Amino acid sequence: MDRKVRVRFAPSPTGPLHIGGVRTALYNYLFAKRNNGDFILRIEDTDQTRYVEGAEKYILNSLEWCGIKCDEGVEAGGEFGPYRQSERKEMYRQYVEQLVDNDCAYYAFDTPEELDEMRQKLKSAKVPSPQYNAVTRSSMKNSLTLSEDKVKELLDKNTPYVVRIKVPRKEEIKIKDIIRGWVVFHSSQVDDKVLFKSDGMPTYHLANVVDDHLMEISHVIRGEEWLPSTPVHVLLYKYLGWEGEMPEFAHLPLILKPDGNGKLSKRDGDKLGFPVFPLEWINPENKERSSGFKDDGYFPQSFLNMLVLLGWHPSDDKELFTLDELISEFSLERVTKSGAKFDPDKAKWFNQQYLKSYDDKELAKMVQPALQDKGIANDEEFISNVCGLVKERMSFINDFWEHASYFFEKPKSYDEKVVRKKWKENIPEVVVELKSVFLNLQSFKADEIEQAFKHFVESKGLPIGALMPVLRLLVSGVGFGPPLFEMAELLGKEEVIARIETGINELEPVG
Ligand code: GLU
Repeated sequence: MDRKVRVRFAPSPTGPLHIGGVRTALYNYLFAKRNNGDFILRIEDTDQTRYVEGAEKYILNSLEWCGIKCDEGVEAGGEFGPYRQSERKEMYRQYVEQLVDNDCAYYAFDTPEELDEMRQKLKSAKVPSPQYNAVTRSSMKNSLTLSEDKVKELLDKNTPYVVRIKVPRKEEIKIKDIIRGWVVFHSSQVDDKVLFKSDGMPTYHLANVVDDHLMEISHVIRGEEWLPSTPVHVLLYKYLGWEGEMPEFAHLPLILKPDGNGKLSKRDGDKLGFPVFPLEWINPENKERSSGFKDDGYFPQSFLNMLVLLGWHPSDDKELFTLDELISEFSLERVTKSGAKFDPDKAKWFNQQYLKSYDDKELAKMVQPALQDKGIANDEEFISNVCGLVKERMSFINDFWEHASYFFEKPKSYDEKVVRKKWKENIPEVVVELKSVFLNLQSFKADEIEQAFKHFVESKGLPIGALMPVLRLLVSGVGFGPPLFEMAELLGKEEVIARIETGINELEPVG
């Protein structure tokens, strides 16, 4: 019988969500929607020592900004709740007891000093990674080595304890991963992981497996850093008698630094000047601020589009996708095993593509606030026409002023390089004549201006390249920009004439 697809994104609120986390959420979401399934948000907050104020809210806000909607979760609710593990505390104890009763887990009373001593001893015996396992547990203080009475006595006296999983000594643990194929672990490499502590809190491993089971999760899609924990999880399914309902696993590749050397970290972002978090984050402890894609001017759609291609590729080379298109195209089979390099320039490129796809009126609305801050109040039609002319050059809404300032104010200076190269001795008098040609134009439409200009240049026996940059310089102050005659039309005859006059007065001929 085909199982209903139910997947979960299960972050721990230990800090801001890295883009790798957002990608995990996105892949889970796409997979769920592709398969008419449910996407669940579960907050894994059993480790109170790592809890960070504001992190859960940050996670929720990030998903909301991206447009990733949860079918069930801390805010959405649902029949499998509560969805915050700290609120499920009481549910886990019965499973620990079941594991201990069935000889699949045991109490361990070792103090931190005793554990340290064991590790030191093993290290000096040249054991590279000392573990609490099938060999070492036989010489430690636990319910496998102590008598039943002694264990009872220690428990009655409220001696701090942990419950550890009893990993078999020699057994192969095979995991079928949708992305990686069969992955085989040998139980001798697996630690007797702690499942539960005497404060009544389960650890990640136990809570994760119990909740995946109780929430009827069909597929566990998560980052590859969790692959080494999976044999423990598989054993738990078996020990708890849930083997038949075990979810399928898919471990996602890492997102790598731009040069491909290791996992992308916040430090790389700081160093190279790009965000690694979706939203701005202020560290509650030291008030340190990290920028986010949103605050840096990325559209949520372009952020997701960039992100989805870090590790997944469609069947052709299409690059731009709406969320709906992604839902119909996404499959875990097309997720790669190897890490995906984050490319900050490509991220900008995606934003540029989305920006260009907005119509000019919508863009005008987006740039309005920045213009208002500058006290500029042109009518919407004018602003929208300017947007139409400059959007090709913008990657972000915030780039608008850099490319469009001269539509709203006269040039404050003139690009020296262009002046040096083009403002020759004979130019001012030619420009005076050009001005009269413009003055005589009936309508000041781009086509008409262009024709008149070309005709004039020809009659003077000048190459186009001698006068075009000069006209652009006079009108905008710079040597590059949108199509010149359209720009002139938009500024209007009066303004263009005025700018030509100012230029003639201010510029000193050279050479
Ligand atoms: N709480 C884990 C995390 O923070 C979840 C890992 C998993 O999905 O199993 O990523």
